[in-house]
Parts: sequence; C-alpha cells; structure tokens
Amino acid sequence: MDLGIRGRKAIVCAASKGLGRACAFSLAREGVDLVITARGAEALEATAAEIRAATGVKVTAVTGDIATEAGRAAALAACPEPDILVNNAGGPPPGDFRDWGRDDWIKAVDANMLAPIFLIKAVVDGMIGRKFGRIVNITSASVKSPIPQLGMSNGARAGLTGFVAGLARQVAKHNVTINNLLPGPFLTDRLRSGAAFAAQKSGRPVDEVLAERGKENPTGRVGDPAEFGEACAFLCAATSGYIVGHNLLLDGGAFNSSIA
Ligand code: NAP
Repeated sequence: MDLGIRGRKAIVCAASKGLGRACAFSLAREGVDLVITARGAEALEATAAEIRAATGVKVTAVTGDIATEAGRAAALAACPEPDILVNNAGGPPPGDFRDWGRDDWIKAVDANMLAPIFLIKAVVDGMIGRKFGRIVNITSASVKSPIPQLGMSNGARAGLTGFVAGLARQVAKHNVTINNLLPGPFLTDRLRSGAAFAAQKSGRPVDEVLAERGKENPTGRVGDPAEFGEACAFLCAATSGYIVGHNLLLDGGAFNSSIA
C-alpha cells in the first residue's frame, strides 16, 4: 500500500530509540525525508545512518532536549515547514506521588504536555496554509487506563489529550489531522526500565517480569516497536484526512472493553 506521502518532510521527536525510532523508520520507508531528534548524539547519529542506508531518504539528526525551547527551536530550524510532526519524549519516572514535588511535576508537564503543544503551535498554521498536515502524538495506554505507579504520566498526558481533542476539530477542515497513538507494552528501553523497577520492588529477576508482561497480554507477547511505527505511518497517509482526534490504543487487546 502506497501511503501517498513520498517526498513529504517530517519532524520525528525523540527518535534515536524505541517507538520514535520505529515511527521514523516507517515514515522513511514511505519516502518521507526526516529530521529526527534526541538528547544523546551518538545513538541519534547511528539511527540516522541506519535509516539513510535502509531507505535512501534524507535524514537530519538534531541533538537537543525537546522539552526545552532551545531543543524545539533547533528541530524547527532544521525543518521549518514540516508536513508531518510526530511528538514524543521520554516518559516521567514511576514512583509514589507523595515523593513528587513541584519541580518533578513541571518536568513531566514540560516533556509530555507542553513540548507537543508548543511544537503544534509552531507548525500548525503553516500546515493549514499548505492544506496538508499530519500530527501524531505518542502518549500512552495510561491515558485510557491509569497505571498507579505512573501518576505523572497519567496526569501530564491527560492534559495533552484534552487540548488535542479540541484543536483537532478546529484544523481538520484544512486537511490537517491530529491524532494520538497510545502504546501498551512495547519492547523498548522504557519497558525494560519499568520492568526493572517492578523487579526491584518484588525481588524477582527482570526477565521474569518481562516474560510475565507478555504472557498476561491477549496476544501472549509484548509489542514490537515496528508494529507501532507502521500505525504511525498509516495515520500520516495522504488518505487519512478523515481520521481526526483519535486515541488509537495499540496494546494487543490488554484494555478489556467491548468498545476499545
Ligand atoms: P525509549 O525506548 O526509552 O526511547 C526514548 C527515546 O526518546 C530515546 O531516543 C531518547 O533519546 C529520546 N528522548 C527521551 N527524552 C527526550 C527529550 N526530552 N528530548 C529529546 N529526546 C528524548 O522510550 P519508548 O519506549 O520509545 O517510549 C516513548 C514514549 O512512549 C515515552 O513517553 C514512554 O513513556 C511512552 N510509552 C512507552 C511504552 C512502552 O511500552 N515502550 C508504553 C507506554 C508509553 P535520549 O535519551 O538520547 O534523549
């Protein structure tokens, strides 16, 4: 299936590893030129080189913290008029809300709510003017079903979700779509560190906790980031202009509901 986005330009945030990287790869396979970001230069350059070698698209690696003004300005300077924006950043740490102060919360809100909002603000009017835009926010299954130890993630992402629900309906008439992708358990460094936290609390080996995460899922496994990337590319397709304001849950059916 040709998604009709060959030659388009995308900014994919937080894309040296994990889900962001998978989204970048899937878009590149569709012929989209990329600006990818992360804080660590080494892994970012390695990912950029891999994507170039595998797909032949133009990939620009921009090092910086997307939760800061400077990080966002650097990404936008490398691609001032993106057709596609994939918002992503590392998730807040797990813990007990009694231990979190104002600074902890501000960090979570900066990374998982305000960074995507300010990037959307920077690019959405250009997309409206050009009559094409696809914005995908990587959030979390915790938006639908809160995860007790990830209170800052539950809270900050809910704020983004509420904002996007309103804006998506204001820009859709210009062929600009905004949707959220909600990952359940995908095998990335983030999942491994979450499993390490649970393993430490329960005194069990990390591998055992990870295997259990897979077994308890209806699919009998955790997700492959490549599957997530393909869903992202689909939302960015030329023919996806009628998919507006969705929260697409990619969790292998873990959320138990007649209507997911
Ligand atoms: P990951 O494997 O840890 O990868 C995170 C990527 O983001 C890395 O490339 C990292 O590179 C980059 N990054 C982190 N913070 C950044 C920042 N402030 N600015 C720029 N780049 C940044 O994580 P993941 O599993 O792909 O998760 C992506 C998002 O999905 C996270 O918000 C996570 O909480 C959420 N999520 C994941 C799962 C899952 O099962 N994997 C489930 C639910 C939600 P640097 O460290 O070098 O910056």
